[in-house]
Amino acid sequence: MKTYKIACIPGDGIGKEVIPAGQTVLAALAQKLGSFKFEFTSFDWGGDYYRQHGVMMPADGLNDLRNKDALLFGSAGDPHIPDHITLWGLRLKICQGFDQYANVRPTRILPGIDAPLKRCRPEDLNWVIVRENSEGEYAGVGGRAHQGHPIEVATDVSILTRAGVERIMRFAFKLAQSRPRKFLTVVTKSNAQRHAMVMWDEIALQISKEFPDVKWDKELVDAMTARMVNKPASIDTVVATNLHADVLSDLAAALAGSLGIAPTGNIDPERRYPSMFEPIHGSAFDIMGKGLANPVGTFWSCVMLLEHLGEPAAAALLMRVIESVTADPSLHTGDLGGSARTEQVTAATCARIAAAA
Ligand code: NAD
Ligand code: MN
Repeated sequence: MKTYKIACIPGDGIGKEVIPAGQTVLAALAQKLGSFKFEFTSFDWGGDYYRQHGVMMPADGLNDLRNKDALLFGSAGDPHIPDHITLWGLRLKICQGFDQYANVRPTRILPGIDAPLKRCRPEDLNWVIVRENSEGEYAGVGGRAHQGHPIEVATDVSILTRAGVERIMRFAFKLAQSRPRKFLTVVTKSNAQRHAMVMWDEIALQISKEFPDVKWDKELVDAMTARMVNKPASIDTVVATNLHADVLSDLAAALAGSLGIAPTGNIDPERRYPSMFEPIHGSAFDIMGKGLANPVGTFWSCVMLLEHLGEPAAAALLMRVIESVTADPSLHTGDLGGSARTEQVTAATCARIAAAA
């Protein structure tokens, strides 16, 4: 029987609650189908590890992950440690170390979810946002000088490389091509940023010629926020830079009903390294440790993980079960206006997997 080696990195806050829930659901799925199993290895990296060792993860930690088939990640973020340390010391270290350059974020309004857009039918909002995940505004290039003096200066320099833009455009066009509508929107800001974003536009045009069957258009990022709210049905697949897509995908998650539902995959399309799957939410300091976190974002991330492993039947079964769970208001957590607890949602998901036809 095929065994998939999965590294679990719960991290901080509610990551420690939703990742074990995800493991439970994956194990239930393997048991139900009987055609593969999982070997989980958990890593206690994050804020607590930082308090003990002064780093979020060991310097050679990537070596422990390298031979895994996939990674399941919770959240990095601790109320007592600056966010740039937790983010760069753990999540970005893995994403960048493993060159997971395509961050894929599907958004749909699942059954039973009350989404905030009043004129939007569920079938009007079915998007996938592709986020450039290796460079751009989060390249980490910049510095500070004259610290503490009145002339202090600080820079964060956005870096776009031709190779980096070509590969993310090719990935986005290919993903758009694989979806029924075959339609891609390239988000830009080339009116104001007249160097790198102009190159971004030029490369989009160049790569589009490789995909004659994909229709595409271009939208400035500020106008894109309004289009997402006013004309959701005009959007299908989207590609944007690291920062632009970071912001747009939180908006997308909110428009679909809750941050607690939205999944993402940090993908190395060439499969040189393991890819990493995670709910898009953070540590949720306000509810952590209370058993109130919505685990659905993690479960949907597990669907993406299964698709990546080449288990489409298992992925489809889990997605069907997730939709039956969201359709049941008694299984809604607080973020969805309900009072269900993490463990109830998890137990119901496992029971429905076991009972599935
Ligand atoms: P957040 O996602 O942690 O929380 C925003 C709001 O949404 C909170 O009210 C929270 O209770 C709610 N929420 C989020 N996920 C939920 C879930 N699964 N179920 C129920 N409610 C949920 O965002 P934030 O407050 O901006 O950030 C908190 C910390 O998390 C910060 O340290 C931040 O840097 C970190 N963070 C990490 C990641 C990551 O590791 N990928 C992503 C975002 C934020
Ligand atoms: Mn974000």
